[in-house]
Amino acid sequence: MLPASVLELAQQEMLDWNATGMSVMEIGHRSEAFHSITSHAESALRRLLGISENYHVLFLHGPARAHFNTIPLNLLQKGQTADYLISGYWSKKAAEQVVTSHVVADSGSTYSRIPSETNWHLDPQAGYFYYTDNETIEGIEFSGMPENISVPIVSDMTSNLLSRPIDVSRYGLIFAGAQKNIGPSGLVVMIVKKELLKKHQPELAPMMDYRVHADESSLAATPPVWSWYIAGLVFEWLLENGGVEQMQENSLLKSDLLYQLIDKSSLYINDIQPDCRSRMNISFRLQDDSLRAHFLTEARAHRLEALEGHWSTGGLRASLYNAMPTEGVRELCEFMCDFEARL
Ligand SMILES: *Cc1c(COP(=O)(O)O)cnc(C)c1O
Repeated sequence: MLPASVLELAQQEMLDWNATGMSVMEIGHRSEAFHSITSHAESALRRLLGISENYHVLFLHGPARAHFNTIPLNLLQKGQTADYLISGYWSKKAAEQVVTSHVVADSGSTYSRIPSETNWHLDPQAGYFYYTDNETIEGIEFSGMPENISVPIVSDMTSNLLSRPIDVSRYGLIFAGAQKNIGPSGLVVMIVKKELLKKHQPELAPMMDYRVHADESSLAATPPVWSWYIAGLVFEWLLENGGVEQMQENSLLKSDLLYQLIDKSSLYINDIQPDCRSRMNISFRLQDDSLRAHFLTEARAHRLEALEGHWSTGGLRASLYNAMPTEGVRELCEFMCDFEARL
């Protein structure tokens, strides 16, 4: 979901961006005009998250999962391994892509919690420690960042970047596919400590080498111009709407509404351990799963869309990204109460 005001602005500017007489999709990506879009997007993101000059901000092509492969290529030295914490579908997928991964802990085949930090088997020699801040499919989120990690921390924040303040200076690399909480698909936002890219790596194909993208200001190849432009408008929208502090407050309010309803109900069930329930993706199922199709049909009739769970888990899921207004969550809650009452 994207903020309506961003879509309206994009619509107004669709045929003529900033009196150039051209659409953003038509102006050259090396032109002055496009440069003003990219430099504004970068400075807005730096402001939102307090990103210092010690970090590159890269705007790369997707998909996010392509970076499951290129992150180890860029960050590991010859012979080094990386630590992976498995807390759900996406961290498991990422670990599987890395030949030299070492699993510090795995919360099991049906994910419902983050493995307790006291049981992590960390390797102090690891090239980096990798975790997924919000497991989008199961709806499992870290409430803060992992403590006691002595190696650079890499985090997949595809589904919760910009939903709360983070201390970027404690990370080595943060990346996020844009399509969940930032903008259109096709773009990956990456924040990476400059120092980490300085170490000598084995020769990489240029398009896989983050140093090349950093040196060329993410213009080593034609970038996803439209997604980059919309992302910039979303960053501006965030700055005008209270920034990540306000998004955190909103997300807590919105997710609490839904979790409270689920906990009170005898129809809806959420299986996630309460201290790691996600603010962004609320997964739930029905006591009687045979009612699922009926629930979805009725929800659609109330214009409540995209409530199916992921194909791998089934069930139901409500995603409450930044652009979802509290009013939308209230409508969903009303519908759910009413649905249960009518059974
Ligand atoms: C959606 C998602 C991905 C995969 O994104 P693609 O761009 O489709 O590869 C990776 N990680 C997380 C946390 C996600 O939510």
